[in-house]
Amino acid sequence: MTQFTNTDHEEIKKFDNVASIWWDLEGSMGTLHVINPLRTKFITEKLNMADCKILDVGCGGGILTEALAKSGARVTGIDLSEASIEAARLHASVQGLNIDYRYENIEEVAKKHAGEFDVVTCMEMLEHVPEPNKTIAACSQLLKPGGHAFFSTINRTPKAFLFAIIGGEYILRLLPKGTHTYGKLIRPNELKKWTQESGLEFQRLSSLIYNPFSRKFKVAEKEDVNYMAHFVKK
Ligand code: SAH
Repeated sequence: MTQFTNTDHEEIKKFDNVASIWWDLEGSMGTLHVINPLRTKFITEKLNMADCKILDVGCGGGILTEALAKSGARVTGIDLSEASIEAARLHASVQGLNIDYRYENIEEVAKKHAGEFDVVTCMEMLEHVPEPNKTIAACSQLLKPGGHAFFSTINRTPKAFLFAIIGGEYILRLLPKGTHTYGKLIRPNELKKWTQESGLEFQRLSSLIYNPFSRKFKVAEKEDVNYMAHFVKK
């Protein structure tokens, strides 16, 4: 296997192993489909997507990538799970969507395409890399001045341990077991510090709050377990 910088290859193997079920709505990646309209709205609601050039970092099977492409943007998706990139390509072609999927490391892409993107999205990925601050710096480097960055991840709090790991993976089975490691989860103040160090200015933060009784998520403007945040490149 090719060795990439700032990449946990054991993590990548986990995603290679689920590559065939990215688009299985009933499968263990199903939660991403449930939250997808909510996060797509968070990204698109304040922007003009027509002709917008977007990079989706850690795109997996393309669940968010496709939603962004459907909103009229020109989208590139990158991921280091080769099997996931293949699944994403196949799904997009069946859907007739024109998305540029690449099996490429963000740090390499950042060297070649610095300052080219209007929007960079990096959802549910930072908690899987060894040094998230470096991924954030590369995302920032890829943006045009005034461009928008969106990150989502899971908070590192006892509540998150209980809800996202014990509840989500073991009790409700919303995610495959072993998907998340507590120590790698990220607090909003850490995300804000790393983004600030990379020249990204904080705009807003919302959380996706799960109700196990109705089995629905709702968006609230506060810090909770699963959160997403919007930044602008200075
Ligand atoms: N962003 C997608 C998938 C999230 S799962 C979504 O929210 O729907 C996390 C993804 O990050 C996996 O596809 C995994 O292969 C990818 N990933 C993990 N480490 C990575 C790295 N260093 N570079 C690129 N992708 C990575």
